[in-house]
Amino acid sequence: MHPMSLTDWEQSVIERVDAWKDKLVTLCRGLVRIPSFDRETRGEAESAYLVGKHLEPFKISTEFFKSHSSIENLVATLKGAKDGRRLLFNGHIDVVPPGRLDDWSVEPFGGDVKDGRVYGRGSVDMKGGVAAMAMALCVLKDLDLPLKGTVILNVVGDEERQGDLGTTWCIDNIWEKIRADVAIVGEPTGTGALGRTLCIGEKGPVWVKVSTKGRKAHGSVPLMGENAITKMIRFLTALLERELPTVPPPLERGVLVKQIAGVMGIDSAALELLLAKNDSLKPLQAVLEALTKTTLNVGTISGGVVANVVPDHCEVELDFRILPGQSPQTITAFLNELASDLGLANDFEVKVLSAFEGTSVPDFENDLLATTLQTTSRELAGRTIFFMATFATDGRLLRKAGIPSTVVYGPGNGALAHKADEYISIEEMVTATKVYALTAIRYLGLDE
Ligand SMILES: [Zn+2]
Repeated sequence: MHPMSLTDWEQSVIERVDAWKDKLVTLCRGLVRIPSFDRETRGEAESAYLVGKHLEPFKISTEFFKSHSSIENLVATLKGAKDGRRLLFNGHIDVVPPGRLDDWSVEPFGGDVKDGRVYGRGSVDMKGGVAAMAMALCVLKDLDLPLKGTVILNVVGDEERQGDLGTTWCIDNIWEKIRADVAIVGEPTGTGALGRTLCIGEKGPVWVKVSTKGRKAHGSVPLMGENAITKMIRFLTALLERELPTVPPPLERGVLVKQIAGVMGIDSAALELLLAKNDSLKPLQAVLEALTKTTLNVGTISGGVVANVVPDHCEVELDFRILPGQSPQTITAFLNELASDLGLANDFEVKVLSAFEGTSVPDFENDLLATTLQTTSRELAGRTIFFMATFATDGRLLRKAGIPSTVVYGPGNGALAHKADEYISIEEMVTATKVYALTAIRYLGLDE
């Protein structure tokens, strides 16, 4: 950890967060105890109300906005002494279903505390993060800090279903309430071995269905027909051999390797050597590839009816992940060009199932929020490296909506999300609360 030089205000924030650790844990446990994975139970509304109840004694102005009978989106505003900058905290309150109950050794919605952790579905993804953000607001308000700008907390639903009734709904319907210069999304960005990360961007998923056409015939005289499956085999083989269209990534491989080598206490060359030789580092190698290039997963394949009929149809679903700055159209154009190179153009169709651009914080190394958050996290949580997310978060929606400077940073190990025995470390929640509060002070400034 970097040596800290805290101001008196900052020191009082740190002490207050420590003193209120129990309040933080109580809020997190309370949230975990409310199942919020379907629209029947109103769990998303109940969770938002619980956050509101926690803010109430501090007289923080809080409003609820119903986007569905089961979803309330909360907006809490801490207005500064001046009309300065606006900082938005965003967190989702919905969770994924618990899955097979046999896989759990604790009650998925029990909120048990064991070994310094809160257990349960949604603890790490991301009720712990929401609790930390809410707590940061309470501390800032209670200490009556003369912030020069405004902090807004937006607790939303409908993230896990990738629906439109959470962050998207807030952007479309109550933009004036959540409008900000910069935003922090509190998804868990701890990684275990690599320490803390700060995600400055995410890739864009482009899902397409590709189909080939043929002509039916009796399987005993295959040349009478045209086989759609063998056409698909030719297409896929060529696709897997061809280099996918890509652009320079926000974080070059060399930059990522240097940061990770730093965490491991070695130099870049030594890490490259390990990556080349050591099978146990294959997952890291895979992540490095995914963060710096367009990737492709062939997800499904289907075609044909029975062994003795030449199939006239075959289709696959492909999942491309493109980098920020790349347009989804480059993927469809690339696929059509490949089909035409193979002489398949007339029997070939690409249909886009869904497509999102990747997004990232422009010039993140000089971005005021990203650098303030990184410095603060280094002081309080230890080494914190810039990273990207391979998956999508609500951060992409906020960047697109007009807050390009949106970073993802939150307590807990992201790898535990969606799994049985999900948990969040209480210490990490406490630290994140301090980092959020101090980042607000440092980014907004104090009117002293
Ligand atoms: Zn999440």
